[in-house]
This record gives sequence, C-alpha cells and structure tokens, in this order.
Amino acid sequence: MPVMQPSDLWKRSGRYKIDELFKLRDRRDAEFVLGLSGEEVVTTHIASLVRSYRDLPQILYHFQVKERDEPRPRAGVLRTREFVMKDAYSFDRDPEGLSVSYDRLALAYDRIFDRCGIDWYRAEADVGSMGGYGSDEYMAPCAAGENDVVVAPGYHANVEVASADPQPVQLPAALTAPEEVSTPGLTTIDQVAAALELPAGALLKAYPVIVGEDDFILVVVRGDHQVNDVKLRIALGSAFRQARADEIEARLGPPGSIGPVGAQARVLLDAGVQIDGGAYVVGANRPDLHLRGVVPGRDFDYEVADVRTVVPGDTRDGQPIRMETAIEVGNIFKLGTYYSEPMGATYLDQNGVTQLIWMGCYGIGPARIAAAAVEQFSDEHGISWPRAIAPFDVHLVTLGKPGSEERELSDRLYDELRATGLQILYDDRDAGPGEKFADAELLGVPLRATVGRRTLAAGEIEIQLRRGQESASVGLDGAAAAIADLWQRLP
Ligand code: ATP
Ligand code: MG
Repeated sequence: MPVMQPSDLWKRSGRYKIDELFKLRDRRDAEFVLGLSGEEVVTTHIASLVRSYRDLPQILYHFQVKERDEPRPRAGVLRTREFVMKDAYSFDRDPEGLSVSYDRLALAYDRIFDRCGIDWYRAEADVGSMGGYGSDEYMAPCAAGENDVVVAPGYHANVEVASADPQPVQLPAALTAPEEVSTPGLTTIDQVAAALELPAGALLKAYPVIVGEDDFILVVVRGDHQVNDVKLRIALGSAFRQARADEIEARLGPPGSIGPVGAQARVLLDAGVQIDGGAYVVGANRPDLHLRGVVPGRDFDYEVADVRTVVPGDTRDGQPIRMETAIEVGNIFKLGTYYSEPMGATYLDQNGVTQLIWMGCYGIGPARIAAAAVEQFSDEHGISWPRAIAPFDVHLVTLGKPGSEERELSDRLYDELRATGLQILYDDRDAGPGEKFADAELLGVPLRATVGRRTLAAGEIEIQLRRGQESASVGLDGAAAAIADLWQRLP
C-alpha cells in the first residue's frame, strides 16, 4: 500500500480536510497526501477486485508507515508524526457479516495483546474521524497514558463517550410559576449559586450551538456538569459549532444570563438533569436576572439526550466509577459503508443486484505496545520486557576473560542457547560485573544467565529473572535446555 497517495481519493472520502493529513504537490503541481490510515487506498483496491458475493468476505492486513501532522507530537514513541501501524480491513456482504468479522478480529486482537504480555482492556470509544458506527479502543492502563478511561465493574469506556448516573442533587421546591431573581453582575454558575445559597447542581447551564447553517439548539446541563462535545456530536448526529455572541443575542438575549424558558430554540436537556423532586434556577435571557422555581416540561419543552461528561462521584449500577489514564494501543471500527459508498466498492448479490460492501478496520500501534510495556513493568533499575516482545530472550553475561576456562564455558553455552532457537544477547565486553549487571537490568531482557569462576566451582549457572529479580540456578549439564524451559514459563 503506498504511503504517498493521490489526494483525489481523500477528497472523495471526505477526509481531505483533516488537519492531521500531510498534503503535498509534485513538480507538475498534482496534489498528493501522505496516508494517515489506509481506508481510501484499500477500499479502492478491493473495489477493483471484488465482483460477486462469492468474493466476500475478505480480510486484508499490513504493517505500513503512517504519517500524521500531529498537533502535539511527543518525545518517545507514544505520538510520533511517522509510525508503523498494523492495520487490518474486513469486507463483508452485509451488517451481519461485518459483525461476525468484527468479533473475530476483536478476538484475534485480544489474543495479540495477551501474548504481548501487557495489561489491557477494551473500552467503548468514539468513531471520530474514521466514520462509521461503532468502535472499541484497546487501552493499556498506565500513568503516562493520554486517554482518560472510565472504569466501573464490567465497564470500560473512553471518557469521551462514557455514561454514568449522576449524584442526585438537593433541589429547592418548585414554585407555581418561575419567579425572577435579581442577579446583578453575576454571570458564572458559581457566583449565582453562592448568591442564592444553592448547590451548583440546582442551576441549569445553557450551551447554545449551531448545526449546519443556522439551526440554533440550546443544550442544557446541570450547573455542576459540563457538556461533552463528542457525546453532543453523536447525539446531534452531526458536527456543530458554538453559537456566536450575535447569534445568541438575536435568539435569546445578552450572553451571560441565558436559559431555556421562553427560548426561541430547540432545547436539548441532558439526561443527568433530574426532572422531579424540585425546581431549578436558570438564566432569564435578560441582563442581571435569573428565574427560580423552574420545572422542565412545565416551563419549557425539551428533548433528552446524554451529552454531559461523567464526573467522579457518578455511579453505574450503584457502583462508583473510577477514572484512569491509559495508552491507546489499538482501535477497531465498524465502518459500515462509509468508505465503500464514495469509493464505489460494490458487489453483485445472489440476485444480480449491486450492493455496497460492509467494512471494518482494525489498527494497532506496535510502538505504543512497547511503550505500554515499558511504562507498566519498569522499576527503578530499568525496563522489564514481557518475553514475547523483548528484543532478546536471554541476556548471557560472561565474567571470564578471553582464554579463561569460564570464558570457554560461556562461549559454549552461547552456542547451545542459540541452538534452542532463543535469541541471546551476549555480554562479553571487557567490563566489571557491576557494570554488566546494571546494564542487563536497564535493558530488561527477561532472563539473565551469568557464567563466571563461581559457575565452575559450583557446577551451576546463576539465573536472574528480570521481573521481580528472583534468583535461580541451573546445573551445568543440560543448562541450555533448562534455561529454555525456564524462559517458556516467564510472563
Ligand atoms: P490518538 O487518539 O492517540 O491520536 P488515533 O485514535 O488517532 O490515536 P487510530 O487512527 O485509531 O489512532 O490509529 C490506530 C492505532 O495507531 C492507534 O490505536 C495507536 O496505537 C496507533 N497510533 C495512532 N497515532 C499514532 C502516533 N502518532 N504515533 C504512534 N502510534 C500511533
Ligand atoms: Mg484511535
């Protein structure tokens, strides 16, 4: 799959406008991009190959360089502008076929992350700029992670999409009708709540947005909650922008004290706003005034949607949620026909009718797996690689000088270990034991074997397991096989 691709494909899919997409021109001024993922090219390729339903399903995968003009590239390997992605693409006849492929790929990816030896889980995620209608992220929990994951028993979700039950708030009693309260100069929730001696959650906060050209929508959440832009986009089913001051002024009144009562706008009320058991304070759409005793439904019409960001103290099934940071090591998507439609990827079904191909895509960041392993298992001495992804299997340290008997023994052991199929890092440098051991711990190869004068005397080879630094020994006879056996049982 080419890294440099005609920009035309990306214009067709609608992804040319993505800021992270590197764009360039050749000497004839033709436009190209550097692929940030592979959907456009792979779908075009499949479109030229697949004719009939008999050609489906298919799964393609590759390891390929991807380029992204990241807004915040980070030192290290977590977020680089050029990185290798392992990605797979599934092509099916229909949504049911896609579900089967998706589940099979998810299972295969579960096993890959298990085999890699990192701690991970799958979290519900946003589809974002990939398009489509379903997504899971593979998350490796660790402090260095850039993602916030909401965790509850049996639940993992990126905070971008997470849902939870809010803590109830003590509301003042409803009044027979809304009543004006003077709030001169008070424009923030905290100021108004303090002045009225109410919890912030007893106020409603209005967030005016525009969908399309000028479809004005007033999003309303509890005063102690925040609108979540990702959830709002999903709930609205389209992109939106914040309304400008002049648009707010024209529809409601001066920004600062706006609210849903009497608003000439659709009101989207967050699902976290409890409807009975009291009344709320809202902006009055007039300067320096709020309304109290306001009851949603009686005093303004609304539709309900879950559009707030969950917060500590929220619960799921009565259990408190927890937030933790994690590295996104993989991400899988149900794309549906998002790409097959613009790229013209179709097939003829049993009745000879043209149908769109249903797609999924499945990405892994190998460098991030390495980063996650380092973050999760390192200690004050250095890295501790899981054996499946360690750069070497065994770190053989010889303390014997060239020509010595112990050096001969370690050279022999090196050959025997290699013959077992293990990859051996052989430290035969002219350096002291302290330096060699410290370097071995820093590099983090899962098993260290040391051969020195003591080995000859004791008839045993000293072993150190890097994880937990447990010591062991194996007899000289059959040492290579014993070491290979030990290695098999390492994490
Ligand atoms: P992020 O949200 O961290 O920017 P993404 O959601 O944009 O990542 P995807 O498009 O889902 O990334 O790409 C698939 C996988 O490729 C990611 O799960 C991640 O492991 C890896 N990846 C993405 N961007 C980078 C990057 N800049 N450097 C290294 N690996 C990356
Ligand atoms: Mg992703």
